[in-house]
Amino acid sequence: MSSPSNAPADPAHSADPARVAVLAGGVGGSRFVRGVRAAFPEAQIDVIVNTADDVTLHGLRICPDIDTMLYALGDGIDSGKGWGRADETWSIMAELKTYGVEPTWFALGDRDVATHLVRTQLLAAGATATEITAALASRWIDDPLLRVLPMTDDRVETHVVIADPQATAGKRAVHFQEFWVRLHAEPPVLDVVQVGLDSARATDAVTEALTTADLVLVGPSNPVVSIGPILGVAGVRPALRATGARVLGFAGILGGAPVLGMAHRLLPAIGVEVSAAAVGLHYGPRSRPGGILDAWVMDTTDAESVDAVTRGGLPALAVPLLMSSPADTAAFIRAGVEFAA
Ligand code: GDP
Ligand code: CA
Repeated sequence: MSSPSNAPADPAHSADPARVAVLAGGVGGSRFVRGVRAAFPEAQIDVIVNTADDVTLHGLRICPDIDTMLYALGDGIDSGKGWGRADETWSIMAELKTYGVEPTWFALGDRDVATHLVRTQLLAAGATATEITAALASRWIDDPLLRVLPMTDDRVETHVVIADPQATAGKRAVHFQEFWVRLHAEPPVLDVVQVGLDSARATDAVTEALTTADLVLVGPSNPVVSIGPILGVAGVRPALRATGARVLGFAGILGGAPVLGMAHRLLPAIGVEVSAAAVGLHYGPRSRPGGILDAWVMDTTDAESVDAVTRGGLPALAVPLLMSSPADTAAFIRAGVEFAA
């Protein structure tokens, strides 16, 4: 919140944004958001979260990135794994296996199932994803200035077309969760399709967050299946291109590989090289048609590509980008913001 107008401005913080909007996926996204809060302790933070990972299993609607975000921000996360609940037990899964009920490859902890039960019931009662997320967040988020917003209230699901010699056409489409969790992202990827994205619309809350922000941060989340779907929701890209805020992006690819996860298996399928520079130029500068960024932040291991990205029209900076702690993350966020100013 802003200081009283008669108080002298703190020179170190006088340029702090009052409203920050963040684009994020799950594990990487939630680590990033903890850093955003540490960087700007008094700002309103609106986190726009990918929902294209969502899946229905055993009749339960599961929103992995939203749940990871809520558990992480509410200190309820299994911090070793980076997802799922702390102190989890697995009786429900064991019972389902005993019944021989598929699928058994998606880990559904007992505590976690409670979240999916609440969501599924609220959905059946007609609540929107935005309303349900707010209801769940009231348990997890003890920060009146932080909102978690699903990218859309419409249903979007990422499917991956994989090569499969046993399938009649030599290929088949699987849900992203099956590709990621069951198949460990191993089969060759022929295409990534976001089912429902064509007709998905940004919610009013998302559009308002992007339009009223003083600063927009595109987190180091997976460019294909986390940030990509958010940018594909009708209304998001135009709002990013039109916002008066600086839009700053952070690389999740360091030295040619993702810090965690399997983004390197998916980037080639959308024609993007597995490098921080290529991802930045894929998002593109706002000065170019369709571009969304004012500046791109890469890790110091990628310092040699700063010139190439800058020549591509996108001002770039190299600083250490490992999110080892919220304080480390806050340090690189502040460095990026100072650079973009
Ligand atoms: P998911 O939805 O759970 O897969 O997580 P996200 O899409 O939000 O984030 C995954 C991305 O975060 C991966 O591509 C990682 O490379 C990136 N990531 C994870 N840890 C770090 C880190 O410490 N620093 C940076 N710069 N990126 C990271
Ligand atoms: Ca995800």
